[in-house]
Amino acid sequence: MIDTLVEAFVALQGWLLDRLIQPPLLAMGLGSYLEMAFDGIEFFLCGVLQISAAYLLLRPLEALRPIEVWRDRQAVRVDVLYSLLDRLGIIPLLVFALLAPLFASVDSWLRFNDIIPPQLEDLFPPLETRPLLSFVIYLLILDFTEYWRHRLSHRFRWWWALHAIHHSQRQMTLWTDSRNHLLDDLIGGFWFAVVALLVGVPPGHFIGLLIVVKTIENLSHVNARLSFGRLGELLLVSPRYHRWHHALDLPVGRQYRYGCNFAVLFPVWDQLFATQYSGQSMPACGLRHGPIPESAARSGFWRQQYEGLCALAAAFRPHSRQVQQTGPTNDYGQPDSHAR
Ligand SMILES: [Zn+2]
Ligand SMILES: [Zn+2]
Repeated sequence: MIDTLVEAFVALQGWLLDRLIQPPLLAMGLGSYLEMAFDGIEFFLCGVLQISAAYLLLRPLEALRPIEVWRDRQAVRVDVLYSLLDRLGIIPLLVFALLAPLFASVDSWLRFNDIIPPQLEDLFPPLETRPLLSFVIYLLILDFTEYWRHRLSHRFRWWWALHAIHHSQRQMTLWTDSRNHLLDDLIGGFWFAVVALLVGVPPGHFIGLLIVVKTIENLSHVNARLSFGRLGELLLVSPRYHRWHHALDLPVGRQYRYGCNFAVLFPVWDQLFATQYSGQSMPACGLRHGPIPESAARSGFWRQQYEGLCALAAAFRPHSRQVQQTGPTNDYGQPDSHAR
């Protein structure tokens, strides 16, 4: 069954290459890019599968058990656009085009100096014959580094200026996962690629890892009254768990300097580093007193990108640094830009 599906997938990939991509590439004298185009089609088709699975599984949940019902879903439509650009490869393609020359030079430098980053399988040979176990270990390593990427994006003022776009949404749905500033995507892509290079993620695992991570991330943003119970939430990030990360307000007496529940897949990192809050209700989501105007919650794609850049520039201005040292702070302990 799986073999038949894989065969059909590869056949479709080949058909799209032959019929749609190859003729214009050859006509433009870009035949050397054919192999890259073949990989690009694989990424696109996996994106179609991932986004269809997320929609078919999670959208009914949102319809059946919504936490919030909105008459006007304009703000949600912007997140759908973010998701299509992200999952179907437009944003990853941009990130790849910008990062590929950098990684090509790092790669040739490493080869020139005879440095081959070790693969997990080289360090623990038994993993060679246990692909599922090695997949899970790679997932744990990547998730650990994603926890720190996410936590640092709240910690550094300039990074928070960009990540605040993700938090500005007040109508959080399964699509909100992809709502990120393009520069934040670029940094995230760089981070993920460096980690994958250092731990030697095998190419065969790469797309599978990406699909698993992205589908769970869609689930954690879903607008559905859904938790995994106290025990389940010790094991996997649930919609309720991640909702507290997006909470507009934390209960009185529950203050975290830069936020709580940073984990992407496994809450164990929040437990280990004391950033966990296991609230039992479903709080309202959004951002108050953030580095971008609250109107960004409802503005369009380009406006949000612009607001993110303005906030980034403000983060580097000496005056705003002074505010950082002396000025009021928001719930996350970050400088309150609206006080300026
Ligand atoms: Zn965050
Ligand atoms: Zn989120």
